[in-house]
Amino acid sequence: MTTGLPVVFDPAYSPSFSDGHRFPMAKFKHLADWVRASIPAANFYPPDSIDWPSIYRIHAREYVDAFQSGRLDARRLREIGLPWSDGLAIRTPLAVSGSWTTARLAATSGVACHLAGGTHHAHADRGSGFCIYNDLAITARRLLDQGVASRVLIFDCDVHQGDGTAQLLAGDAMTFTCSLHAEHNFPVRRARSDLDVDLPDGLGDSEYLTVVQETWFSACQAFRPDFVLYDAGADVHIDDVLGRLAITDQGIYARDRFVIDACLSQRVPVATVIGGGYDRDVERLARRHGIVVQAAMDALTAHKTMDKHLHFGNRLA
Ligand SMILES: [Zn+2]
Repeated sequence: MTTGLPVVFDPAYSPSFSDGHRFPMAKFKHLADWVRASIPAANFYPPDSIDWPSIYRIHAREYVDAFQSGRLDARRLREIGLPWSDGLAIRTPLAVSGSWTTARLAATSGVACHLAGGTHHAHADRGSGFCIYNDLAITARRLLDQGVASRVLIFDCDVHQGDGTAQLLAGDAMTFTCSLHAEHNFPVRRARSDLDVDLPDGLGDSEYLTVVQETWFSACQAFRPDFVLYDAGADVHIDDVLGRLAITDQGIYARDRFVIDACLSQRVPVATVIGGGYDRDVERLARRHGIVVQAAMDALTAHKTMDKHLHFGNRLA
């Protein structure tokens, strides 16, 4: 059993990027710096090498090949909303691999955190809303294909609906997609998750936590997962540029701690990804994304104190 909290990151996650772009690409590096400085028991791991078959399993080969070689047409690039570069082509599949690595580590340590991921708007043959490949769908399928898990719950608390994940995994009985999102927000055209919860504008901490808890129990009762991929979207925050809710730092911590505690107490491994978060002040944004890592560290410490035998069998071959 590992003693620290596994955290997955690669410096390539923050390639050089045009200043002033709406997407804060530098946030990943700032987040890693914050975690290193604030959570000494975080053990950093690089992503595993890229596994292309698991990406092709979910995405159309023509789409992946066109994106990787910089041949994606202008309309498709506009839908993604990020300027193509060699650095973007490197970081995109690498971050997918990072979510897999995080899940693989969570399978043995109970919880692990990816300092990226949560690209839930990506569809089979197109990207959308800053998302290119869907790390959640790819990782869920790979966990199942490799026999690490048999029932994967994707609990998506990003403020936007996880439309890509819902569509990619629709009809897959071994996965359950659950999305809690602001009702009046992107994407305009919704997909149908296994469980969708629309949240009203301006929702505050205590009401939000109640909805998260009720939704969590409903999803677990309906599906009984043996693995959880948790999208800890920070864009529910009151100061987020693209969110419509009014959740504070404390509200995000309470949400993240609840989900991770619930998983650990049921012996269900949980891999966290950071999801969306938008703020012109990238340091402040990095701290906001760090909340889930702090919650994971605190939850792991508390559970190890309560149960010295806390152990997750390694089902990896
Ligand atoms: Zn979002």
